[in-house]
Amino acid sequence: MTMITIERYHDISCGHRVCGHETKCRFLHGHNYRITFTCSAESLDELGRIIDFSVIKSTLCEWLEQNWDHKMLLWENDPLLAQMRLLAGAGAAFDALDANLGESVVAVSFNPTAENMAAYLLNTVGPQQLAGSPVRLTRVRVEETRKCSATAE
Ligand SMILES: [Zn+2]
Repeated sequence: MTMITIERYHDISCGHRVCGHETKCRFLHGHNYRITFTCSAESLDELGRIIDFSVIKSTLCEWLEQNWDHKMLLWENDPLLAQMRLLAGAGAAFDALDANLGESVVAVSFNPTAENMAAYLLNTVGPQQLAGSPVRLTRVRVEETRKCSATAE
């Protein structure tokens, strides 16, 4: 059987830093990320599609818009996150200091490298967003720059 896949990319802007990085990636900085989703299915639908491209937009791309775009991604074990929480008056919420800060910072369960972001999107976000669909997210490519990317598959 011929393997057919489809791809759609989405561009977002995020801040992050890589904890423990040997050089400047340990500092707070950001990227204009391009994230490419690849989907596949066992068979095509009656119209000859794996899935309508608009479904990728309304699920996976929309998840990026709602959760990561224009946010600061910090590892939950990043000491900076604890310091920010202290500043905000302890507890899990930043709201005591500044509601915008709470919305701006996203604590993620991994050091936010392109590799870990790609793996999280593939293994966690994809199955959630495409639950109940015959389509599977089979590859995610996260480009930090035009020169540097990571792919999970
Ligand atoms: Zn970076």
